[in-house]
Amino acid sequence: MHTNLAELTASYAAEPYTAIGSNEPYGPGKDDPAALAQRSAARQEFLDQDQLQWPNLAYPLLVEDDLIAAEKAYNGILNGVIAHESQAGEAPESDILYEMAARKLAEVYRHREVLRLLGHTAVGHDELAELSRSRAANMSGELFGEPDEASFRALLADDIRQALAAQSYPGTVKSILAYEYLALLGLTQDEAERIAAEEPASESYELQDSTIEIIRDDWYALFPDLESAMAPFAGRDYDTTPTEAQPAFDAALGAVGLLERGWKTRMLGGRQKADTDGPKRTITYGAKRKNFTPTSIIGTPVHESIHALRYQNGSEQAEPYRRAGLPGSLEFGEGFPVAIEQVLSGVRRIPGLKYDLQIGLLKGMHLPEDIRREQSYRTVDEIMWRRAALQETTPLDAAKVAELQSDTYDSVMRTARGNARDNRDINYFNGGRKAALFLNETAKLPVEIRRARLRWVLSGRFDPTNPKQVALFGGDPAAAYLGR
Ligand SMILES: [Zn+2]
Repeated sequence: MHTNLAELTASYAAEPYTAIGSNEPYGPGKDDPAALAQRSAARQEFLDQDQLQWPNLAYPLLVEDDLIAAEKAYNGILNGVIAHESQAGEAPESDILYEMAARKLAEVYRHREVLRLLGHTAVGHDELAELSRSRAANMSGELFGEPDEASFRALLADDIRQALAAQSYPGTVKSILAYEYLALLGLTQDEAERIAAEEPASESYELQDSTIEIIRDDWYALFPDLESAMAPFAGRDYDTTPTEAQPAFDAALGAVGLLERGWKTRMLGGRQKADTDGPKRTITYGAKRKNFTPTSIIGTPVHESIHALRYQNGSEQAEPYRRAGLPGSLEFGEGFPVAIEQVLSGVRRIPGLKYDLQIGLLKGMHLPEDIRREQSYRTVDEIMWRRAALQETTPLDAAKVAELQSDTYDSVMRTARGNARDNRDINYFNGGRKAALFLNETAKLPVEIRRARLRWVLSGRFDPTNPKQVALFGGDPAAAYLGR
C-alpha cells in the first residue's frame, strides 16, 4: 500500500473512473449503433404504452468487473491517505485527496446498486428492485444534495397557481389538463387552493431587487472599465451573430484585466456553447452556435470572464491546494456567474428549475411527509408534460402535445439515470440558489466589506458557502459582520 501522498495522488489520477463523469456510464456509448437503436426503441415503447412505469433501457457501459476494480482502487487510496495522515498529520492536500476519492467511491457504489436493480428487474423480483432503486436514489442525494424544501414548495405553488388559472376557462384543453395535473399531484381542489394562497417564498431562490441594484454598483466599482467596454453591445434590439460577437468577449476580458494576462477568445468550427478553457487561457465558442440575444451578448461574455478570472486568480495563489478547483465547488462556480449576469442585465434567469422540480417529484416531495416515497418515471413524466402544456402559449394541437411529451421524456431522463432518481443536475438550481442567497446576504453589508467579499470570491475556484473551503481560502472577509 502506498502511503506517500504524491504516489497516492498519482494513482488516484491513473484510475480510469477518475476521469469519467458520474453520468457517463448511463449513456448508450459512443459509436454503438445497436445501443442507440435500443435507446430509441425503448423511448418509443415508453411513449406508446401508458402502463409502463419505467423505460426498458440497457446500459452497455455499466460493467461489473470494471466497477469492482475501481472500488478496490479507491478503497486502497482512502486507506493510504489514512495511513499517511496517521504519520504526517492532517493537511489540506491529504484532506482534499481523501474527499475526492471518497466521492468517486460513492459514485461507483451507486453504479453497482443500479446493476443490482437491473438484475432484480430482469428476474421479476419487484420488491428487491424497488429497494435497490431507492438505495441508488439516496446515494445520489448524498453525492449531489437534495432539493431544498422551501424552494421546491415555492416552485410547486407557482405551477399550481398556473393550473388554477387555467381551470377558469371551462371546456378548454388547458382546463382539462389542469384538472389532470392537480389529480396527478394527488391534490384535492381545496388543498391546491391552500398551497396557491401561500405567501410566495421567492426569497428562498431568487435575487432580491435591492441586491441587483447594490451588487451592480459594486461590480462596476471593482471593474471601472467594464460598463463602457460593453456599451457598444448594450441596448441592441437585434441578435448578434457568433462572428460579430467576438469583440464583446474580448471587451469583457480586457475590462477585467485578463487580456494583459494572456487570455484570448477563439471561435471553433461547430455549434459549441461558450466555454472557458483555463489551462489554455482561452474562451471558446462555436461559429455555428445560435445567435446571441440582446441580453446574452452582454451576459455570456461577462459570465465567461468570471470563470476565467477565478481560474487565473486561483492559479496565481501560493498554496497548491488553492490553485485547483476544490471538490464540490462546481455548484457555486456555475451559480455565481449566472447571478452576476442577472445583476448586470436586470433580467432574471433561474437555472435548472425543471430539474429541481423533477427531482423533488421523483422523491415524492409533493406528498405529505408520512406517505412520501420514490415515484416512477411515468408519474413524473405525466405531471411534467402537462405542466409544459399549461405554460405553452401556442395552440395545443396533437402535434404540439406529442412534441411536449417527447421533450419531457428526455428531460426526465436527466434526473433518472439508471432508472433511479439521479440528483446530479440539481447542481444548476442549487448553485443558482446558493449564489442568490450569498449575494442577498452580501448586499446588506457595508460597502467596503461587500467589495472585499466579492474580490475574495474571485480569488479562486471554491465555494464561499462551505465552511471548510472558506477556511482554506483564508476566511470570509464578512465573518465579523455576520457573527461567524
Ligand atoms: Zn458557466
